[in-house]
Amino acid sequence: MRDFSSDHRWLSLNTATVRKQGDLTAIIEACARHGIRAIDPWRDQVATIGLERAVRAVRDAGLELSGYCRGGMFTSDAARRTEVRDDNRRAIDEARALGAPCVVLVAGGLPQYSRPGSAASKDIAQARAQVDDAIADMLEYARAVGMPLAIEPLHPAYAADRACVNTTKQALDTCDRLDPQRTGALGVALDVYHIWWDPELMPQIARAGKDRLLAFHVCDWLVPTKDILNDRGMMGDGVIDIKSVRSALEAQGFSGYSEIEIFSNDWWEKPMDEVMRICIERHRTMV
Ligand code: ZN
Repeated sequence: MRDFSSDHRWLSLNTATVRKQGDLTAIIEACARHGIRAIDPWRDQVATIGLERAVRAVRDAGLELSGYCRGGMFTSDAARRTEVRDDNRRAIDEARALGAPCVVLVAGGLPQYSRPGSAASKDIAQARAQVDDAIADMLEYARAVGMPLAIEPLHPAYAADRACVNTTKQALDTCDRLDPQRTGALGVALDVYHIWWDPELMPQIARAGKDRLLAFHVCDWLVPTKDILNDRGMMGDGVIDIKSVRSALEAQGFSGYSEIEIFSNDWWEKPMDEVMRICIERHRTMV
């Protein structure tokens, strides 16, 4: 396992971590101040400053990307299928322009939450089937332009409103169905927040193997968790054994960034430079 204790060259910052403190330009400038050499930006943050400006800012700062957040929200009623497809194709185009290594996919839950305005449904099995079909469709476009897709399984607490893909096994089953040759076009983004509790986690990481492990996200699970979406912890403040998960990924040959992704009402209150300083410190000691 790589030694992170003496530098933070493998730290990437998911830009949602400091989304309330400044726009993408300000975040990129702060990354330069702190010697952070990679980010994973969100589409809305890119849209706010404009794609061209974002591309230039990333290039001028010499930043790499560890992913692009996010594509997906595949579940909808029939009237919105074209919108879903076009939206996801645009995500791929943006990711290419920015030089991202993959588009992170959050599947979507029940259609009325994934794509508001869609007819309400309680059929989660149907939602899951729809996700597979939509990823198959998106994959054709992604393959044609050489952009890998990384399915991020989300904690089951989000099954209704964010993602009905809830375990690493489920995400890998989809990968095996749609990309049985393991071409590198389809894999998973594993986020410790979503997967740490899963008794099948370790065997599933081994099953994934290097070619399916496209991204690794870190933060921590606080006890108690006050808000299921926006109360993620800083690494080391919660109960996740992050090092053993990273060790399992690296045993498969994963050699990418450890991407810090913290949605937190508490951390959004603190100055950006303080958050980045602590991220670096915890990356060295807790990741
Ligand atoms: Zn994540």
